[in-house]
Amino acid sequence: MTGINATRVQNYIGDPISAEAPRPRAELEEIFADIQADFRYDHELNGCLNCGICTATCPAAHYYDFSPREIVQLLWTENLEGIYDAMQEKIWACAQCYTCAARCPFGNSPGGLIMLMREAAIKHGMESAKNVLRPFSRVMLKLISTGNQLAPDMITADHFADWGPNVSKIDAPLALLRKAIPMPTLNTTKTAWEVNLKTSVELYTIWEATGVLDQLETIDENLFDVITDIMDEKREDWEEFLEEEHEGD
Ligand code: SF4
Ligand code: SF4
Repeated sequence: MTGINATRVQNYIGDPISAEAPRPRAELEEIFADIQADFRYDHELNGCLNCGICTATCPAAHYYDFSPREIVQLLWTENLEGIYDAMQEKIWACAQCYTCAARCPFGNSPGGLIMLMREAAIKHGMESAKNVLRPFSRVMLKLISTGNQLAPDMITADHFADWGPNVSKIDAPLALLRKAIPMPTLNTTKTAWEVNLKTSVELYTIWEATGVLDQLETIDENLFDVITDIMDEKREDWEEFLEEEHEGD
């Protein structure tokens, strides 16, 4: 117990008898086995001196309760409970800049290892992964349906309040400005550029074959259903297009 009803000691050291049941050992082992089974694991982890150079150069460590040294040590010592705990929050603080990988004297890539832990968190449908990725569902939908991540019409003052006073600059007449761009593909505000039907269908095949859609289904079933419908529609359109092309032969 911690918080308003906890004693001073409990707040300081945490409650040794936590209300939360510990994760079954088998589950912790399975999660670690998934991280270790990735072919990148042995490349990213060669040993660890616990020297802290990675943390000293890590931008995220300056701002968050986060240390790549700690994460690497958890993996190197196979601390299964610690690995599971880190996956609940800490691994999402990494900015994936890979400064750590450039500096580690052992040639480790803490950022790369964190990426493997994130993928495992998604695969196991952890709440932390769902929470972190939820705000990106609009971007994901845009990407799948149009082939573009961000379109000019998504850049609105409401969605970019953190831009501060500069946000007024994005209230510019977008349609007019886009028309002023010489390349014809950049005249739209719904997409950053036009992606043709064949490319969209090829992208769907890639996302299916690489397991991206399986991961999406684990963390957001509703979004997965919407996206599957869009993909089916576009595939039908593509088949019809091919049939029409054939008729003309
Ligand atoms: S990962 Fe590399 S830089 Fe970081 S503590 Fe271990 S040996 Fe040092
Ligand atoms: S990749 Fe992540 S852990 Fe490594 S330096 Fe960048 S923010 Fe820190």
